[in-house]
Amino acid sequence: MSNTVEFQDENEKHKILICDDSRQNLVELNKILSADYSLYMANTGKDALRIAAESEPDLILLDIMMSDMNGFEVIAELKASEDTKEIPVIFITGLDGEAEEEKGLGLGAVDYITKPFSGAIIKARVKTQIKLIDQIRRISYMSLYDELTGLPNRRYFNAKLELEWGTAMRDNIPLSFLMLDLDKFKVYNDTYGHNQGDILLAAVGKILDKYARRATDMSARWGGEEFAVILQNTSVEPAAEIAERIRAAIENLDVPLYERPEVITKVTVSIGVSSINPASDKEKMNELMTRADDCLYEAKAAGRNRVVVEPQE
Ligand code: GH3
Ligand code: MG
Ligand code: MG
Repeated sequence: MSNTVEFQDENEKHKILICDDSRQNLVELNKILSADYSLYMANTGKDALRIAAESEPDLILLDIMMSDMNGFEVIAELKASEDTKEIPVIFITGLDGEAEEEKGLGLGAVDYITKPFSGAIIKARVKTQIKLIDQIRRISYMSLYDELTGLPNRRYFNAKLELEWGTAMRDNIPLSFLMLDLDKFKVYNDTYGHNQGDILLAAVGKILDKYARRATDMSARWGGEEFAVILQNTSVEPAAEIAERIRAAIENLDVPLYERPEVITKVTVSIGVSSINPASDKEKMNELMTRADDCLYEAKAAGRNRVVVEPQE
């Protein structure tokens, strides 16, 4: 899956869309901001909406009085669209009445600058907003991803599962669920140290990412040394095959094990697999997880390093 996140490259400039119907203002703002940002210019509201949707700017500077659509109409449309509603907007306007400013902020603008503007003020206010955007992105990344492996965390996984579950039910397609747990990981940690344990977890994360690649798949760090995978539109047989490939890839990881060969000779994983076919049974999402968990338990009990698939009728 898109187990990665779009993140601002530190060397890449943030993108700012400037919309003003006065050419002179565009030229001036360009002078003030072009050294630090990558700029997009629009001189009508319509153009601004199109560029905002196409180019995903990080910030929009918006004039209010324009000939085609006014800035209030433009921001209303921006906020009404899924694609653009999160982009912060700063109004830059000749309207300096309190009522206008209140209206602008009420429509969701993050700031309001009146003309004539000073270059220093524009720079400072833009910089503040860009900093905020980066912080918000970092925080939302941290709330969805596990830092060690880079995989989605359990919270994100559950949200995704709910979404894919809904799709599976609606479109009558199968969905499979894998629950994985590293074998004897405590011994590995105790023998080779927590740091080596972390490195191993990250390597397992990479393997999962590789085997659950489709946009509708998702692998996640479930917690500790446990991982989970959703395979959308995948019935139990192919899911079992993928689980087996993951198991083999982990077994074949090149991990030097020399300290206590009597306790660990290789790093392995046990996997439980469950599936739904919404056409035949409308069941509960958490039952799917419980059944995979039961299979995982069985895999452990049967000697570990194996895949156990739930019994099929
Ligand atoms: P089993 O085969 O039955 O699953 O045995 P196990 O040792 O893997 O299971 P147990 O639940 O007893 O131990 C899990 C270990 O995973 C204990 C804990 O120290 C380790 N662990 C959990 N999270 C992390 C982590 O983030 N980093 C490291 N290095 N170790 C972790
Ligand atoms: Mg465990
Ligand atoms: Mg374990």
